[in-house]
Amino acid sequence: MIITDTHTHLYSEEFELDRNEMMQRAIIAGVTRFFVPAIDSTCTQSMYDLEEAYPENVFLMMGLHPTYVKENYQEELKHVEAELAKRKFFAIGEIGIDLYWDKTHLKEQQFAFKFQIQLAKKYKLPIVIHCRDAFDEIFEVLESEKGDDLYGIFHCFTGTYEQALRAISFNMKLGIGGVVTFKNGKIDQFLNQIDLKHIVLETDSPYLAPIPYRGKRNESSYIINVVQKLAEIYSIPTDKIAEITTKNSKDLFGI
Ligand SMILES: [Zn+2]
Repeated sequence: MIITDTHTHLYSEEFELDRNEMMQRAIIAGVTRFFVPAIDSTCTQSMYDLEEAYPENVFLMMGLHPTYVKENYQEELKHVEAELAKRKFFAIGEIGIDLYWDKTHLKEQQFAFKFQIQLAKKYKLPIVIHCRDAFDEIFEVLESEKGDDLYGIFHCFTGTYEQALRAISFNMKLGIGGVVTFKNGKIDQFLNQIDLKHIVLETDSPYLAPIPYRGKRNESSYIINVVQKLAEIYSIPTDKIAEITTKNSKDLFGI
């Protein structure tokens, strides 16, 4: 069984003391493919170090996270552009709009999102979207950029059934993680109406640990709890869930 974690912040300080043990636990559990989203320029070097340590397992993205769109965002976008020109990445992410923490830089967030979508098109890469309290704003940008060259993942999808269909209509897969195991997570109510071909798995570790670890530090090996929950929702065996979602990730990322 090969499980793909399409969204994990392996470089997080939360893993500072036991990163290798944590990676080994995941690999033993069958989680052998880790897709790592960027946040801002401060995490770039640690991402390269991880890739060097796990060249078979770690696949990097490049991008500027919406909550890190601040006064210096132009400089940060230049960094994204420069790294993309230098070497291979597997997606532009995570990018998008986040109005939960702070609405001050909405205009700049919209600009950065659009700008990075255009970079994704230039390099023929998928995008990985971070959306928090911003479905309307995100859909507005996707509407203006839609086409065959726009595709990717709606990471940590927590919307409604209608929003799921809308995301899929823009060639987006739904990134499903710990939230699907939460009692108040809501997406478990309608997910069985969404074809599995639109689903990829993720942890967003160290955040959003699934039940029974909710509230604790998350790690990639816990994705097995998400696999089990999806097996219940779709009434198919866990290895089938792993197989289909890994295939979806391969089609998307090209690896
Ligand atoms: Zn993330």
